[in-house]
Amino acid sequence: MKIENITIVGGTHGNEDTGVYLINQLGRGNLQKKWSDLNIDLLLGNPKAYQQSVRFIDRDLNRSFASSELNDLSLSGYEANRAKAICQKLGAKDAPERDLIIDIHTTTSNMGITLILADNKDYNFQLAAYIQKYIPDCYIYYIPADDYSGSSEHSFLISMAPFGLAIEVGPIANGILRHDVNKKVEKVINAALEFISKKNSGVNPVLSQSVTVFKHKKVVSFPTDNTDETHSIIHEDLQDNDYKRLKKGDLIFHTIDGISFPYNDDDEDDLYPVFINEAAYYYQNIAFSLAIKISVNTKTGLQNI
Ligand SMILES: [Zn+2]
Repeated sequence: MKIENITIVGGTHGNEDTGVYLINQLGRGNLQKKWSDLNIDLLLGNPKAYQQSVRFIDRDLNRSFASSELNDLSLSGYEANRAKAICQKLGAKDAPERDLIIDIHTTTSNMGITLILADNKDYNFQLAAYIQKYIPDCYIYYIPADDYSGSSEHSFLISMAPFGLAIEVGPIANGILRHDVNKKVEKVINAALEFISKKNSGVNPVLSQSVTVFKHKKVVSFPTDNTDETHSIIHEDLQDNDYKRLKKGDLIFHTIDGISFPYNDDDEDDLYPVFINEAAYYYQNIAFSLAIKISVNTKTGLQNI
């Protein structure tokens, strides 16, 4: 199997400038010369939202790639149309023309470099394991479609190709650029292309036998009565502690009246919070997500878990 047609996307969310900057930078460099065995295409995901420095105009573009919506001609709005236009470029979801998509995102959460995988294909885990060799402190976050949306199919942009990787980097405020953040993401892209190129040439890069993977389990909302009068915010004990185990009784919310609330759910699994205090999720009242920690064998994949 050869992965030759690759699309690198920036600005799927219009206020995450790092990706836009990087695709512009890649476009000015010797990308095609350096990776002559790959056919790399660069894409600005949401130009109108980027122009206005907002996440989206009408709806989240990165939740707009479900087949039913792509095929629904009655859907209107900027992102619904933009998703269809991207679909024309990348090929239909059931007849993809690109082999792999890398989609660059940023987060206001303290998630460092997080490699998001939307399926359990061995190739994707091996790609992530290879990147982790060069960036040992990066995290791998696997989001199965059914656990995330209750559907067997993802509506993420990376679901438009058989293989894909979304890069999240943070914390960084929306709408700004940071040299150090750019450099980190550049390193991830470089390692990813190196892995793909090596695999294409028949070389099987040496990978650690297993990698630690955080697998999405559920989201935790702010208290439902979160009005201006009762306003709960993320507790300082939880803030910035992405990927650190959350135990029952740990404080997660703090109200305007000075009352702190603990995490009280009974879970059979050890849970790890991610996307803590992500600005983009406030409008949905989401405070953070919880993941379980698993180990994935890079040769045999998820099957043995
Ligand atoms: Zn994003």
